[in-house]
Amino acid sequence: MIKGIIFDLNGTLDNTNQAIARAFLEILKKYFPALKSSQLKKFSEELMIFFWQADKLADLKYPQWEMIDIIKYGVGKWAAFRKIKLNISQFAEDYNIIRKKYLSIKPEFASLIKKMPKRGIMKFVFSQGNSKTDVLSLLEKSSLTEKDFTEIISTKSFPGEIKPSIKILSYLLKKYRLKAGDCLVVGDDILADIMPAKILGMRTILISDYVDFFAKKVDQIYALIKSKAFSKTKRR
Ligand SMILES: [Mg+2]
Repeated sequence: MIKGIIFDLNGTLDNTNQAIARAFLEILKKYFPALKSSQLKKFSEELMIFFWQADKLADLKYPQWEMIDIIKYGVGKWAAFRKIKLNISQFAEDYNIIRKKYLSIKPEFASLIKKMPKRGIMKFVFSQGNSKTDVLSLLEKSSLTEKDFTEIISTKSFPGEIKPSIKILSYLLKKYRLKAGDCLVVGDDILADIMPAKILGMRTILISDYVDFFAKKVDQIYALIKSKAFSKTKRR
């Protein structure tokens, strides 16, 4: 019987990746109106990857960076990679204005949480890097509120901690007197969400748009490659 569910926020409850790529697409269209839409889509997804690289760097090395610094760094590295001349500061600032517009809680997650019993199952949001205020303003844009959760946990409240964090998961177990085996972590990142939860003895669900197939064992790989389903796998 599951007594506690810990939902990762970024990329699980919210549409971070879609919002990032969509906002980059919008700004690229303005800056490069002559480019074909397939090229714009490719560039926007590349920019998303450079953004995440910058975001990780900020977590590890430059905790004082604001979002705009992260965007500028990522855009700068992308422009150098593509050898594109760009007013990086202006591009990053224009992008930052529209980024927030597209960020939301996935409606299917909002209805899933609403459907779950109010009592008996504690529900947590576990966010990396967003303050509690950021999370609350995101929830406000959906049908969810703070009351739908037992606690909103942010790495920002634990100085020096980032995901993966055994310390934060252990804090939660102790505070709510939960046994690890009675908890489930739902996340989109093996290293940040799934692995530490599993090591502590929790149940885990990985949710991701980016995985075509999942293999628990090496000997499943060759059979998968030869399968009909594999050849039908769509490219993005
Ligand atoms: Mg995530």
